[in-house]
Amino acid sequence: MSDDQSVQQAHRTRMAAKKRVVDERIARAQESRGVLILLKGNGKGKSSSAFGTLARALGHGQRGGVIQFIKGRRETGEHLFFRDHPRVDFHVMGHGFSWETQDLARDREAAEAAWELAERMLVDPGYQILVFDELSYMLKYGHLDAQRVAAALSGRPREQNVIITGRTMANALTEIADTISAVADERHAFRLGVKAQPGIEY
Ligand code: ATP
Ligand code: MG
Repeated sequence: MSDDQSVQQAHRTRMAAKKRVVDERIARAQESRGVLILLKGNGKGKSSSAFGTLARALGHGQRGGVIQFIKGRRETGEHLFFRDHPRVDFHVMGHGFSWETQDLARDREAAEAAWELAERMLVDPGYQILVFDELSYMLKYGHLDAQRVAAALSGRPREQNVIITGRTMANALTEIADTISAVADERHAFRLGVKAQPGIEY
């Protein structure tokens, strides 16, 4: 056998072994149901991943609901884009919890109203995908009760997918999640002195 042939042969053997492993995994994953996805961590890419997945679901004709639990100073590209989509209901939380406000009672009221909206989405099988962007802050600051949030998520329609973003996740959510991805902050342009830009940051 020439060197070329033995390299080919080794490659084929390796790929065949890999295929066996992958096929076995595919055969095992037979359950068909919605999943709860948590996107956490200090790196950039959580909300953009959630909205990328929403776009993917819409491409398949699905219907989506979005609640953004933190209102920034700026109008976001995702809101401007998805709010006009006929199969998306997009809500940005009330008068807006943000770093700008320091009014606890008002923040709690806004969180309560937004979560009531979420609870209505979580009993409606007409929504195949829900995005609760920055929901984790509401739990971190005690604006919402983690058990109540977890109960609504657990009781949702079987086929419904939910994505939650936020830097840190409450244990109550981690316990019931199907997929958890942590985005690490290896580097961010902000620290290199690059200012936030539309289309990338918001
Ligand atoms: P994105 O919406 O870009 O996917 P994200 O949802 O992962 O970001 P958030 O914590 O929601 O991150 O912060 C949103 C904003 O903060 C974006 O403008 C993002 O570029 C910026 N940002 C995210 N991570 C960092 C970081 N480690 N340092 C500085 N700015 C950051
Ligand atoms: Mg975000």
